[in-house]
Amino acid sequence: MVTIGIPRALLYYQYYPMWLTFFQELGAQVVVSPPTNRATLAEGVSRAVAETCLPVKVFCGHVVSLIGACDYVFVPAIRSMAYKVHNCSKFLGLPDLTRAVVPESPPILEVEIDVDQGKRALYQAIYSLGRRFSCNPLKVKRAAQSAWQAHQDYVARMRSQGLTPLQVLEGQSIRDETRGYHLSLAVIGHPYLVYDSFVNHRLLERLDRGGVKVYTPEMVPQAGLDEAMAQIVGQAYWTYEAEVVGAGGYYLENQVAGVIGVAAFGCGPDSLMFEMVERRAKKLRGCSFMSLMLDEHTAEAGLVTRLEAFLDMIQRRRQVTACG
Ligand code: SF4
Repeated sequence: MVTIGIPRALLYYQYYPMWLTFFQELGAQVVVSPPTNRATLAEGVSRAVAETCLPVKVFCGHVVSLIGACDYVFVPAIRSMAYKVHNCSKFLGLPDLTRAVVPESPPILEVEIDVDQGKRALYQAIYSLGRRFSCNPLKVKRAAQSAWQAHQDYVARMRSQGLTPLQVLEGQSIRDETRGYHLSLAVIGHPYLVYDSFVNHRLLERLDRGGVKVYTPEMVPQAGLDEAMAQIVGQAYWTYEAEVVGAGGYYLENQVAGVIGVAAFGCGPDSLMFEMVERRAKKLRGCSFMSLMLDEHTAEAGLVTRLEAFLDMIQRRRQVTACG
């Protein structure tokens, strides 16, 4: 049986159930690289040029950790996921970048997803990928349909149950509401920063342990994302803009006392998107906003200090509002 390796990085948190279903339906076995650790990060950092963003360096480290564990590594090139909406250039060239940076990687299994090119091109791309495992077009079609259904179910579970991708992937079905929370905050940003607890220094666990109920972009209703996007940017330009601008705009007006944005240092799209959320926060004035920039040099102590200062500021703000 062919074994496909999937790096636990970048779009893994968004699409893993879909990819897993597709490959399993076609008779392949899937292995996922272990969670990010010091060695993964060091490996990625040592290979990529310094200007590369942290998530891509981490991705390269994960590819290295799959060497010897699989027959192929799955590295999609996702150009667009909607008409006239574009993806960051790192995603476009990810298979080539991986080959160049990790030359000893197992052979790369790639597919180019470009929804902007229309349905026909999309179906052809999926069929070309599936043909590597089966010559039967009906089998590939059924695998693609099951995979899409798995993705829809995954998204629906996160949204309806208020779960994070990690909780769904770990098999949790309902959110644990039994512990007493004294504050609600939203954490927004790309899933590969929000859910990789090594690169964000266990941000979500820290907040949870501190009695903070955390909301994330996946829990926002689609109508809420659409409305916030329309108010702040009109039409989306970047593929994953909704998880930053849409979710940020939504939470600034709903459910939470503050919003924490997690961004990658040196990321062009993030710098523009977080600027828009920050301006929105200043305009609305009701909800506090803080952005955390992550790179491989981000020190845990610095992050904790900023977090504590932000939480203190929110508590004081609440006391002043209560007294007023
Ligand atoms: S969007 Fe930003 S953080 Fe994500 S891959 Fe592109 S440059 Fe890196």
